[in-house]
Amino acid sequence: MTDALTWSPSRSRRWRECPRQFLFNDVLGAPPAQPDPPHFLRGSLIHAGMEGAIRAVAAGKHRHARTLAGFLDEANDAMRAHPAAAQLPEPTVADCHRVLADAMAGLGVPMPASIIGVEWKFVLRHNGIMINGAIDLVLRTGPASLRVLDWKSGKIPERSEAIEGHTALGIYSIAAMRAWRWASAIEVGLYSIPHDQSVNLIVTRAMQELVLDRVSRDYHAAQHARALLSPESVDEAFPTRSGDHCGSCRFRSYCPLFGGSALPVRPGVDVEKEREHIARKITLSG
Ligand code: SF4
Repeated sequence: MTDALTWSPSRSRRWRECPRQFLFNDVLGAPPAQPDPPHFLRGSLIHAGMEGAIRAVAAGKHRHARTLAGFLDEANDAMRAHPAAAQLPEPTVADCHRVLADAMAGLGVPMPASIIGVEWKFVLRHNGIMINGAIDLVLRTGPASLRVLDWKSGKIPERSEAIEGHTALGIYSIAAMRAWRWASAIEVGLYSIPHDQSVNLIVTRAMQELVLDRVSRDYHAAQHARALLSPESVDEAFPTRSGDHCGSCRFRSYCPLFGGSALPVRPGVDVEKEREHIARKITLSG
């Protein structure tokens, strides 16, 4: 396996969190064995609600979309249409609607003219690396300034210093700077939907360089591990790195640390067969 991996801030995060999880997900493309944890589904649902509402405002789709009630109606429609709604119990879905209503009351309806990107996809090229990503929301905040926002469905740091080296936000700011060349000031921020709380920061060149350097190192380390992959080297090239994140890992059935554990399995997944596929792919790559 020598062809170049495409990269993204999430791949950097997965690689750092646990190289073995990265191997299953990003190198071998193994189907997840465990169901999505409820907090993932809840996050996807709330995220879809925000996206649906803001898209409607930006497009001027409905005359009510620009009022708070209309904004919320749009969000609820988008949530109902999302596949996660069918996988969560009704009380949890109702809870998501409540969380979104509170968040929107605090956030307010953005001005349609200020919305310049919703779930905006980019490809950033840096020293031969192709970095993909999608930004939740890009707002024009002045003649030469814009704000990049990332929705979060959990807690966020309280102080702006804590997001100074944030990988995804740093990458987003570079992508936005290249796309909207008139912007000389870029602010990035996280917005926690359930806590109706945000943290923002004006991006500096130093932050962008730090983040690009980190992402490049992650990319080269993963690419190197991939070139070494064989049945004999898999433990060294893609070690397991356990931690709290294991609870949300959807590849536990394939992980040597969880061998023999009774785990919930996604409908339709034959774990033994998938383990054989994984072993075969590793052998073929050696
Ligand atoms: S269960 Fe934990 S150690 Fe195993 S692959 Fe998943 S994240 Fe890594």
